[in-house]
Amino acid sequence: MKIYQSKLLNNFTNLTHAFTTKDGGVSQQPYNSLNVAFHVEDNSSDVKQNHQYLAKKLHYDKNALVHMKQIHSDIIHIVDENDNFLNPPTCDALITDKTDTPLMVMVADCAPLLFYDDTQKVIAVAHAGRAGAFKNIVRNVVQSFTNDFQSDVKNIVISIGASIGSCCYEVGSEIYNEAKSLNLEYAMEKKDDSYYLNVGKILKKQLLASNIQEKNIEISNKCSCCNNSTYFSYRADGITGRFCGLIMLQ
Ligand SMILES: [Zn+2]
Repeated sequence: MKIYQSKLLNNFTNLTHAFTTKDGGVSQQPYNSLNVAFHVEDNSSDVKQNHQYLAKKLHYDKNALVHMKQIHSDIIHIVDENDNFLNPPTCDALITDKTDTPLMVMVADCAPLLFYDDTQKVIAVAHAGRAGAFKNIVRNVVQSFTNDFQSDVKNIVISIGASIGSCCYEVGSEIYNEAKSLNLEYAMEKKDDSYYLNVGKILKKQLLASNIQEKNIEISNKCSCCNNSTYFSYRADGITGRFCGLIMLQ
């Protein structure tokens, strides 16, 4: 099983984290092979097996995992005792200070974000594609750290895994106009007569605007769409699986 880890998050010993790839699971085409999503019409027993393999690899209890019914919103859910593997809350970010409770964000081109505050011992995950970035979901996550868990923003570290790059994210005039109305023109790149969106640039700017320290932000330069043999990519493949970002306090 091929996974990636964050240099920033690897500095902490009481933390488990990973960004998965397509590699190491049992799902068949077009979900081959480590698809972690149940909603994409993959065989659910294969998806369960993939979760079991990942749990074994990273040493956690699969049934303690909290994932999300992601809806491209800016909703944050504080993990509570009702959350478990079979009942994912409807939201696009999760936050907790509970140990042995892995949080998972699933993606195929959207950005998977992992957050950690080593002082208050709080973790979070977030799902941010174009919609999440336009709604500034990262601001809500940072606010939850400070308001709900008394974090100091200077202690929050963020790692963003592979997502679609501006190389592949061509958008139409409707999206261009929406970006313009939100003062996000800086994230639009014009090539020939087309516009390309740089979601990572928006996320970084929003994190800095939320007073996250620049040295605490790490963004993968891997484009999921260019690298669709390694990552699931909705733009490249349409019907496909999901890879994930995962974080857990030990
Ligand atoms: Zn690309």
